[in-house]
Amino acid sequence: MDLKVLYQELIVEHGTQPRNCRALPAPFCSAEGINPLCGDQVKVYLNIEQGCVKDVTFEGSGCAISVASASMMTELLQGKSIDDVQALCEEFHMVLTHTEVNASDKLGKLVALAGVKAFPARVKCATLAWHTLLAAMKQKKEQKDG
Ligand code: ZN
Repeated sequence: MDLKVLYQELIVEHGTQPRNCRALPAPFCSAEGINPLCGDQVKVYLNIEQGCVKDVTFEGSGCAISVASASMMTELLQGKSIDDVQALCEEFHMVLTHTEVNASDKLGKLVALAGVKAFPARVKCATLAWHTLLAAMKQKKEQKDG
């Protein structure tokens, strides 16, 4: 399928019917993120069990791209190890901010979101939930180390 068509379908589908869009009552960690350029807001919740993602969810409001990216992120990261989560966050960010970098199969249907890099103003919408997830994990680590 044409990536452009896939991109539009996924943004509409996940933007209007986001997956894992709920709060976790007692998360291992959580964080809030905002993208003031667009008005997007997201809160990401994460539960970890034996070094792997047991549950990752989000709540938020914003444009279709920010909601769709958060929704697809939570789908992709379920069950992944912490190291994989870090690597996928880095790869997604690289793909969206470097025109010469193409997404690998690991990103699954998020490959379609790479189309956002043609619109630099929307890159922050697409990466908001990812940055927020990393911030939640970092805060937790600092709490533990401190
Ligand atoms: Zn946005």
